[in-house]
Amino acid sequence: MFIAFEGGEGSGKTTQSRLVAIWLRDQGFDVVQTREPGATKVGMRLRAILLDAVHQGLSARAEALLYAADRAEHVEKVIRPALERGAVVVCDRYIDSSLAYQGAGREIDSRDVATVNAWATGALVPDLTVLIDVPPATGLARLASPADRIESEPLEFHERVRREFRALAAAEPERYLVVDGLAGQQEISRAIQDRIREILPD
Ligand code: C5P
Ligand code: MG
Repeated sequence: MFIAFEGGEGSGKTTQSRLVAIWLRDQGFDVVQTREPGATKVGMRLRAILLDAVHQGLSARAEALLYAADRAEHVEKVIRPALERGAVVVCDRYIDSSLAYQGAGREIDSRDVATVNAWATGALVPDLTVLIDVPPATGLARLASPADRIESEPLEFHERVRREFRALAAAEPERYLVVDGLAGQQEISRAIQDRIREILPD
C-alpha cells in the first residue's frame, strides 16, 4: 500500500507521516518512510540543486524535469521494490507536489507536468493521498526562516500551490483525504488513522 502526504510549507506533513509510520509499525506492518526530493543517492544531489538559493531563476521546465528525475529514481530504487515485497510506503510529497509547485506555482501547464511524471513513475499512483491544508501565511510563519529557494517565493506563489492541491483533492475524493492543518496534532493524526484503517489489508 502506497500513502502519500502533500501540503504546503509548514503544513506538518513530515510530523504526520512520521506518526503514521510509527502507528503502522506498531500494528506489525513493514513500513518504508520516505520523502521527496532526495531519497536516493542521486536524489540527494538533485535536492541540493533544487533547493539551493544560488539556483534562484532556474527555468521552470528544467525544475520540473529535475523533480521528475528524482521521482523516477525514487520509484525505481525505493518505492516499487518496497511495494513489491508487501511493505506500506509512506511518502512525504509525490507527483501532486509537482502539479502544485511546478505546474500551478511556476505557471506551466499541469497536463504537461502530469504526462512527464506518469512516464517517470510508470504511472504509479498512491492508494491514498493525505492533503494537510493550511493557509500559506500560517504555514510560512511556522518555519524558522525561509530556508530554501521555494520558501522564499512570494505569498501568491504559495496561494497558487494551495489552490492546486485543493483542486486535485476535490477532483479525486476517493484517493484523497483533506485534513485541516490548523487542527491539533492529535486530531489530525486520528483523522488520518481512521481513513487508513478503511483501506488496510486484514
Ligand atoms: O517537503 P520539504 O519542505 O522538505 O520539500 C522541500 C522543498 O521543495 C519544499 O519546501 C517545496 O517548496 C519544494 N518542492 C517543490 N516541488 C516539489 C517538491 C518540493 O518546489 N515537487
Ligand atoms: Mg519546505
